Amino acid sequence: MSLHKGSRFFHPKSIVHLCFAIVFLFLTLLTWHEALVLKRTYESNQLARLSAVANNLDNQWQHNLDELAFFHSMLEHSLGDPLATDKSAEFLQQFERVRHTPLWHISPSDTRGVPLNGISDEQLSQFPLFSRSDSQRLADELKAVLEMSLVLKFNQPERDFHYRFWYISRAGFYLSSTLPDARSNHSLENFSAVAHRPYFTELDPQVNPQRKTLWSGPYDSTDNEGRVVTVARPVDKNGYWYGVLAMDFSTQQIRDYLQQALTTRQEGGVMLVGQRFNLIAWSDGSQLEEYRLHKPQLAQLIEQSAGSHSGTMRFDGRFVSWVRLQYFNGMLVNVQTLHEGLLGDSGRVGLVLLLTWLMFSVVVIVSHQTIIRMTGSLLNLQEKLSWRANYDGLTRLLNRTAFFDRAEQLAALNQRQQEPLAIIQLDLDHFKSVNDTWGHSAGDRVLAHAASVIGQALRKTDIAGRVGGEEFCILLPATRLDEAVLVAERIRRKLAAKELLVGKHQTLKVTASLGVSSSEETGDYQVDSLQSVADRRLYLAKQDGRNCVRHRD
Ligand code: GH3
Ligand code: MG
Ligand code: MG
Repeated sequence: MSLHKGSRFFHPKSIVHLCFAIVFLFLTLLTWHEALVLKRTYESNQLARLSAVANNLDNQWQHNLDELAFFHSMLEHSLGDPLATDKSAEFLQQFERVRHTPLWHISPSDTRGVPLNGISDEQLSQFPLFSRSDSQRLADELKAVLEMSLVLKFNQPERDFHYRFWYISRAGFYLSSTLPDARSNHSLENFSAVAHRPYFTELDPQVNPQRKTLWSGPYDSTDNEGRVVTVARPVDKNGYWYGVLAMDFSTQQIRDYLQQALTTRQEGGVMLVGQRFNLIAWSDGSQLEEYRLHKPQLAQLIEQSAGSHSGTMRFDGRFVSWVRLQYFNGMLVNVQTLHEGLLGDSGRVGLVLLLTWLMFSVVVIVSHQTIIRMTGSLLNLQEKLSWRANYDGLTRLLNRTAFFDRAEQLAALNQRQQEPLAIIQLDLDHFKSVNDTWGHSAGDRVLAHAASVIGQALRKTDIAGRVGGEEFCILLPATRLDEAVLVAERIRRKLAAKELLVGKHQTLKVTASLGVSSSEETGDYQVDSLQSVADRRLYLAKQDGRNCVRHRD
């Protein structure tokens, strides 16, 4: 019989499970929420750091592009209105003297300017874009170039981000800010290499009608100076394309700059990539493999970054952030490995968060188990106590109080349903002598045996209780007197038929006297009065010689 009434949901254990599930869920949600906040903080920190590097770098490019613009407008202005001085006349004469020498250099006489390097009129035919056909234009350009050569002397590569200025003229000569000893370096191959660089050829008005500033590189410089990136602007005047003003940036210098921008090793690798995601410079070459983005990842990055100024994404546990540069045709990409991420501030906080969650989860699980075990023991105890309060431990039948409680409920129900109700009162015969002869424990065994015989004789709806030492009472709902007598007779016969082993080779037979009463006799449904009638008849049965059933007075 279950003592836990109500639905399973309200079972104490279910409530404990539910409470702990809520606590665990809440704890996990809270941790999850914190982890998301941490993730967002980490992402925005990474992006803010990269943006700061990008801003600084952009400032450098901007400063340099401003300088390029300044030289460009100065040159265009001089081409329209060249200064005619003694120096410029002397410079033109110098040019006239060397113009048929295959390779030549001319320096402004007082060495204030940077030298002009050129090739002969005859060599020009090798270069389809080159021409000296218009002598007035050539003279104006040489005067403007002289001015330029004087100003280029003030170029300070150690202060500026770029390391070289070029003016390459279609009239077959060039100026370079950092090649004062170009005499030794100057060769036709070098000249040809310069004249065929994309930043020169692609500024042809046929190719670049919008006259846009062009970024190119990285490519290997002619003078073993490593990889170079160049920005170039076409120099035009009165619809004629004179040449190209260009500025070289060493990738080594950019790399040094990126390296310097990183304050700790945990910040990962920062790379400068060009428009087509070609690698231009990176912060730490020896670690590059760790940070390398493979083709599909690069494709994803290109797709994600298209049209956006900055962003973040993840590849194989690596965190990638990017910021597009404003003054350079490319962007900065930062790749941080999981290991580096974990060593950083956010990573450490994340690990602590994970450990805290694990610790609290263990605490929740252990307390859940303990409380479930305690609840189980309490429920067992409650069940035992409740059973003991209602049942007799020896016979396992209802005790006197519980029997009369239930008997009254059943009697009331029978009365309402207008059904007859019968009571059988049973008392073991000469039970005292069983105790006296075979001992108390043998008496107990006889009692338990009698109770089991009674239990087997009953239907599910009948109830039986031990109402005195060796007295039992049975209530049979919806049973007439004659039917109850048959039941009583069956019990009597069964008891009398069984021999119980009490000693090694000794057996004992126990009999009982029974009295039966029914509500149909008087219409009385009171359990005590029906029981006292049955009890009276029981004593009559005793007087009749015991081991019999009596149902009349
Ligand atoms: P009668 O046929 O007239 O009923 O004779 P009796 O000996 O059964 O009469 P009585 O009612 O005087 O005796 C009942 C005895 O039952 C007395 C007591 O020792 C014994 N008894 C009562 N409760 C228990 C019990 O729990 N265990 C045992 N072993 N004996 C019990
Ligand atoms: Mg008795
Ligand atoms: Mg007796």
